Amino acid sequence: MMSTNLIPTGNSSNDVYFQSLRNQMVEEQIRKRGIHDARVLEAMSAVPREEFVPIGSREQAYCDWALPIGWEQTISQPYTVAFMVEALGLRGDEKVLEIGTGSGYGAAVLSRLAAHVHTVERIRELADMARERLQRLHYGNVTVHFADGSRGLPEFAPYDAMISTAAASSLPPPLVAQLAPGGRIVIPIGGFTGQTMSRFTKTGGDLVQENLGLFAFVPLIGEYGQRPASFP
Ligand code: SAM
Repeated sequence: MMSTNLIPTGNSSNDVYFQSLRNQMVEEQIRKRGIHDARVLEAMSAVPREEFVPIGSREQAYCDWALPIGWEQTISQPYTVAFMVEALGLRGDEKVLEIGTGSGYGAAVLSRLAAHVHTVERIRELADMARERLQRLHYGNVTVHFADGSRGLPEFAPYDAMISTAAASSLPPPLVAQLAPGGRIVIPIGGFTGQTMSRFTKTGGDLVQENLGLFAFVPLIGEYGQRPASFP
């Protein structure tokens, strides 16, 4: 990776520098690994990931791994974001619920692929920072909520698609109740050591589950999530 002292963001040299890292990330980490949805590739090429990581991590924004964002949480690896978003099969007219706002990066990617994104975060500071960041970057079709996303977000249900960026031990029942007919939920399911990415599709009265592969995520903490050991 190019090593340089970064010029403050908004400077055109800086924009060109990060755009070239972004293009390389899309080619090497995403397209070559089998993500082919043109809209997903376009969204990943457009969202300035360097704006969503701590200032001291900007040089690593396009590296092939997750990065810490504080409060023991992470911004997911770019490939993981692309994989999950592609699995949702969005066309552009959907109302989406994201559980686990974190930095707001995933919500920004989703905002380019759907009509509206509601995103829920349980850590107030992360929710506030993500809201400010998304407003500053003009992602007008994203609403950030501070709440326990394991309960879904009943006020705005039903959702055409749901995505959880934190792992649950089983599918939280409120998510199923808030899913529109034909809707999809993509969520990692499993314990603390590793999880299976699962896609649930509501068809008629049934919920069809598909397993999409192994991943590692931070836990979903909340009423219908995994609870920390110290949680009563
Ligand atoms: N999408 C994020 C991004 O782009 O930065 C990645 C987020 S990180 C992998 C998972 C997030 O889920 C953490 O910020 C964590 O605090 C949040 N989380 C965990 N349990 C939650 C819950 N019950 N409700 C809402 N957010 C939760």
